[in-house]
Amino acid sequence: MVRDIRTIANIGSGTMGHATALQFAVAGYPVKLVDCSQELLDAGMARIRSDAEEFAQAGLLAQGESVEDVLSRITTYTDYEHGATGADFIIESIVEKLDVKQKVWSEIEQYAPEDAIFATNTSGLSPTSIQSVLKHPERLVVAHFWNPAQLMPLVEVVPGESTAEEVEDATFELMRKIGKKPAKIRKESLGFVGNRLQLAVLREAFNIMNEGIADAETIDTVVKYSLGRRWNLVGPVASADLGGLDTFYNVSTYLLKDMDNGTEPSPLLEAKVQAGDLGAKTGRGFYEWT
Ligand code: NAD
Repeated sequence: MVRDIRTIANIGSGTMGHATALQFAVAGYPVKLVDCSQELLDAGMARIRSDAEEFAQAGLLAQGESVEDVLSRITTYTDYEHGATGADFIIESIVEKLDVKQKVWSEIEQYAPEDAIFATNTSGLSPTSIQSVLKHPERLVVAHFWNPAQLMPLVEVVPGESTAEEVEDATFELMRKIGKKPAKIRKESLGFVGNRLQLAVLREAFNIMNEGIADAETIDTVVKYSLGRRWNLVGPVASADLGGLDTFYNVSTYLLKDMDNGTEPSPLLEAKVQAGDLGAKTGRGFYEWT
């Protein structure tokens, strides 16, 4: 069923979409970039150009390649008929709303080749729900890039209940080909794997602050110079193996009881959000950002 992947259609040219389009173009694939209007596409292309220039300065383009070579592989469209026709792999990074994604994918299905792969870059919507509206649900899979997608290596490849294994495998292989470090997740779950882990750590970081044990800067120092270094090399599970599972077992017997595994967002986080202190984007979060 799965065909040779030669042409990419990239739906959405915003924060994630412009970056995935760049990655495919840098890897040598022709990319059909689709957004709702020419103005949005122009803005997306401007971001792609600016990131491609940074890639060039950092020596990240293939030998002999210029920014113009990369950009020349990208063509822009404001409709799915022209955007999806002839594409072998279609990646979507549009608004995170189930009904919108379902509508867009059913429209794309009318024009895409029958054996094209559909990949959604949803942060956490259920692929089973997205694919349920398709005539061929087995062709849809999640390819969850991490932001900034042009720099972060991980892509979580997550099947829905109907996703064909060959679709997952081909997506995994394509991500590897464009230089990513894909992770094949066995089944869908809220937050997939990366966001579950991220939230578990953040939950405890907020608890630590809330209980007055340490401030934000101290927590970040502890993580950067211990867990961060270690996890960058071997990950948390191998770290536990290396440390000795008996030790982690013994620590678990007394420590887990003392940790708050509450199911509500931290009151500290809620207070920040209510005060409009949303982090770097508003100039203040747990830190001041100028
Ligand atoms: P964004 O708002 O920056 O970009 C969305 C783009 O899609 C816009 O350019 C918009 O005009 C376009 N668009 C909207 N409807 C469209 C349609 N029907 N057809 C074509 N284009 C359309 O959003 P984003 O941050 O890039 O997020 C996009 C998706 O990626 C979401 O599902 C989000 O959850 C996911 N995601 C985001 C991040 C992140 O950190 N921003 C990380 C991973 C995944």
